[in-house]
Amino acid sequence: MHGLMMDMPLSIAALIQHADRHHGDTEIVSRTVEGHLHRYGYSDAHRRARQLANALRALGVKPHDRVGTLAWNGYRHFEIYYAASGSGAVVHTINPRLFPEQITYIVNHADDAVLFFDLTFLPLVEKLAPLCRGVRAWIAMTDRAHMPGGGLDLLCYEELVDSHSDDYRWPEIDERSAAGLCYTSGTTGNPKGVLYSHRSTVLHAYGASLPDALNLSARDVVLPVVPMFHVNAWGLPYAAPLVGAKLVFPGAQLDGASLHGLFEAEKVTCSAGVPTIWLGLLNHVKSQGQRFTTLERTVIGGSACPPAMIRTFEDDYRVRVLHAWGMSEMSPLGTVNTFKAKHLALPKAQRDALQNSQGRPIFGVDMKIVDDEGKELPRDGKAFGNLLVRGPWICSSYFKDEGGDPLREGWFPTGDVATLDPDGYMQITDRSKDVIKSGGEWISSIDLENAAMAHPAVAEAAVIGVAHPKWDERPLLVVMRKPGESVSREALLQFFEGRVAKWWIPDDVVFVDQIPHTATGKILKTKLREQFRDHRLSTA
Ligand code: ADP
Repeated sequence: MHGLMMDMPLSIAALIQHADRHHGDTEIVSRTVEGHLHRYGYSDAHRRARQLANALRALGVKPHDRVGTLAWNGYRHFEIYYAASGSGAVVHTINPRLFPEQITYIVNHADDAVLFFDLTFLPLVEKLAPLCRGVRAWIAMTDRAHMPGGGLDLLCYEELVDSHSDDYRWPEIDERSAAGLCYTSGTTGNPKGVLYSHRSTVLHAYGASLPDALNLSARDVVLPVVPMFHVNAWGLPYAAPLVGAKLVFPGAQLDGASLHGLFEAEKVTCSAGVPTIWLGLLNHVKSQGQRFTTLERTVIGGSACPPAMIRTFEDDYRVRVLHAWGMSEMSPLGTVNTFKAKHLALPKAQRDALQNSQGRPIFGVDMKIVDDEGKELPRDGKAFGNLLVRGPWICSSYFKDEGGDPLREGWFPTGDVATLDPDGYMQITDRSKDVIKSGGEWISSIDLENAAMAHPAVAEAAVIGVAHPKWDERPLLVVMRKPGESVSREALLQFFEGRVAKWWIPDDVVFVDQIPHTATGKILKTKLREQFRDHRLSTA
């Protein structure tokens, strides 16, 4: 016997429809590439998304076609999200920080029908256009006055929107239809496409909004620093209309001064981004003696958030850190770190320690850890193993079946090594390819990096394994010092004593001017391993 409830498909268009009807004057504020601050309400965004949906149809974009974007966080990008997915096409957000060859591969692999771009990316588009012949229209996301010259045949976004009526009814779409496409940066091999559905996107938006996730509401002002081309800004462009939160888009200016200015001017309450972004912001705020007057909490994830950063935000600036873990293949949210009632009365040091883990799974995400033979390991907070996940917003295979079936008996292997404790808190030990194997035992590069980051002279730290004749691999600490600070190799190594097991202490330290990052802001360990492949440890 079936239940007798309406079988209404979950749809992305319903999110903007809801926000229009019930939060029509709630603002979306954007710092534009053209240099001004743009503001309007959800009703305006919905109207223009409908105009754009008509325009897409006129351009010959059919259901399931891919609509590419090379764009910052801004209102036009938001409109494309809804116009494309709402009309049955697939919004394909492209990370402009990838190498041009990777972007060419991605655009051609996705078979993008049209491609929208912010003016910043014109030089990139000029390179791509001759190599991406399948793209039928290149649309500059600006008005006529700012349209670039040059040899390329471009369409103008504002003209396209203006020349179409807002008389458009969102079609009813099978909730399992594709709605969004995002390629993982793939440190090795070709990038692989993760294809989100209407159902997965809406369920993820519900999950992300929950009190023990991001706790989003119609009283929030949300500024996603995480780009809309990095796993859909972690779903915030969907969760904000779902709850009716004000949205603030920072555009291309992601430096500390620009972000802090926007936080204060727009009374931002909640933000989200990778640790590297916050390093810049905290340095700026500290050097200027500034405060956060409205910011209540910030989501930090994408790579491990150093405990020192959590403490600075919470203890010095009274901003709560929501340490979160996820991946492109998980839409991306898997876990968020919040306390349970029983933790509130704990001594501060114990609560602080609990916050360093990646948190508890959101309902909808099931996880387990297994050994190399696939045998499940205990949830005792001590055993660590390969982390597997499953759930309705987790990828079942890659676009065009790239790389074959990724699942293991119905579970998605995350490539992370982690512990799970009886309360559900998950702690990432390492990415399996980054873990350092010393004499048959494992050393967590993340733990060593976290310990180094607590040193006041360290701006950023990375730990990699380098070859050792006796132990196979031993840890090498790569450090970028804060400007004007000095610290010696010996002092740094001494700093680890008492902070990590003695045999974990790195064998050597090298100082560098820059630590390389991936296109999504993670430390590029492959590059460091290459760079220091021939490094001779003094202990060797
Ligand atoms: P890519 O950068 O390859 O596209 P993702 O952005 O999906 O991949 O990154 C997912 C990976 O990032 C996770 O598998 C994990 O290794 C790492 N990661 C994400 N959040 C955290 C966190 N809070 N702590 C530690 N590692 C994290």
